[in-house]
Amino acid sequence: MNAVSDLQRLIGADAVLAPADGLERYERGYRYGTGRALAVARPATTADVRAVVRYCYTHDVRIVPQGANTGLVAAGTPDPSGDQLILSLERLRAIEAVNAGDRTARVQAGTRLSALNQHLAANQLFFPIDLGADPSIGGMIASNTGGSRLLRYGDVQRNLLGLEVVLADADATVLSDMKALRKDNSGIDLKQLSVGSGGTFGIITAAQLEVHRLPAQTATALLVPACQAAIPQLLSRLEAEAGEFLAAFEGMSANAVEAAFLHNPRIRNPFGQGAVPAYTVLVELASVLGPDRIDLSEFLGERLGAYLEAEDPLITDGLLGRSEDLWAIRHSISDGVKSLGRIIAFDISVQRTQLPALRAELLRLVSETWPFLRVCDFGHCGDGGDHFNIVWPADAGTAYDSGAVEALRERVYDTVVKQFHGSFSAEHGVGPYNAGFYERYTSTEERAFAGKLKRLCDPKGILGNIQFG
Ligand SMILES: Cc1cc2nc3c(=O)[nH]c(=O)nc-3n(C[C@H](O)[C@H](O)[C@H](O)COP(=O)(O)OP(=O)(O)OC[C@H]3O[C@@H](n4cnc5c(N)ncnc54)[C@H](O)[C@@H]3O)c2cc1C
Repeated sequence: MNAVSDLQRLIGADAVLAPADGLERYERGYRYGTGRALAVARPATTADVRAVVRYCYTHDVRIVPQGANTGLVAAGTPDPSGDQLILSLERLRAIEAVNAGDRTARVQAGTRLSALNQHLAANQLFFPIDLGADPSIGGMIASNTGGSRLLRYGDVQRNLLGLEVVLADADATVLSDMKALRKDNSGIDLKQLSVGSGGTFGIITAAQLEVHRLPAQTATALLVPACQAAIPQLLSRLEAEAGEFLAAFEGMSANAVEAAFLHNPRIRNPFGQGAVPAYTVLVELASVLGPDRIDLSEFLGERLGAYLEAEDPLITDGLLGRSEDLWAIRHSISDGVKSLGRIIAFDISVQRTQLPALRAELLRLVSETWPFLRVCDFGHCGDGGDHFNIVWPADAGTAYDSGAVEALRERVYDTVVKQFHGSFSAEHGVGPYNAGFYERYTSTEERAFAGKLKRLCDPKGILGNIQFG
């Protein structure tokens, strides 16, 4: 067997890359995961995906599906064996149909979020999952991406109407439910199997999405909460006062904001040079109604002014800013933190009222045990999420110690899951980076059931770089 030439015969010479072609951009993940691939197959049709799967099934070749490779748990990159085939969906990128009346879009799985949004803008529509990366739609479904506007629009799952999936069985069976119905209880909703599964049950080739009207206006502000305990109260108050206009409620620690400023000198500190609050909340209001119907900037400015004038116990400072400028701070944090040293990343969630207590407990744990580490956390506190990212600084004076890091990870996750009944992976899914913790916190019964489903969809276990079950 020569996988490269065999696959080239099946799907075309240009569609398969060999190690000699230089595969690094497919082999290295954004944050974790560096391996070696047997080859990269880049099919351009569902029929070609099936041909690749049948070949791999027959020859026992492991497949790692890959979209835009922006995932953060090493699930889309191969292991170091050199035996795994990367199946990249990057050439399946057609936007097949947009139905403005139904507010639906039918897309192939490799379509990038930015390309879809650019296309939808002509109809004043958008796909409202917002994040600081440009993933593929298939990868977003496989990871059930959340992002910064989950509070308003939900995650990918909530906006998914239909799916086409190729299973990894002998015939590369296609499950296709592309009716794009908002209501359909005529059977078991099989598309949900693929959501957040990391591609372990099948390769997503196309999807029907619910899309939304582009807001005609947004108003954005930074608020400085009086203390951590004030944050959930501030959120409840904004939900009551701004109702469905509230689109985002994002938290940023001072260390995270400083990292963004250091990394991206083009962004300005709106609080003034050197004045970074201990914690800041970015609030966005959005509406499809124009300012002639309701002026959201005026509304938010008036609310903010009233809080500050009344010496409100929940906030100590705040300002309104241009949306692009304030979001630039939020979206520069990931890269900023990455540039400070080695990251020990935690993507955790709890019930949102529990977040202040969880943060306090975790900050205490880190500062007491590993005082030289720098916690740069930020995240979607409106939905109980926190990217509790810790940097092992290059100048820590203590060499990076993987044993200490593993001990830290266990203690942080145990605190989140056992003490606060939260999640060890709020939105990034499960991959080699955190697979051990899936085993640690998932019951035997759930794992056994996932294993049965896995064997139905992928009898030889050739799909994905971790095995559920
Ligand atoms: C700077 C930055 C910010 C981010 N912010 C957020 C955030 O706010 N919220 C959030 O949820 N995530 C966030 N992420 C994580 C990431 O962008 C998402 O998980 C993303 O949606 C993954 O899509 P992708 O196309 O890059 O998938 P990949 O990284 O290519 O793959 C991810 C997983 O999906 C599988 N997969 C990919 N395509 C398919 C397919 N067609 N069929 C079956 N399986 C498939 C892969 O095997 C892998 O298991 C961020 C990432 C970065 C780099």
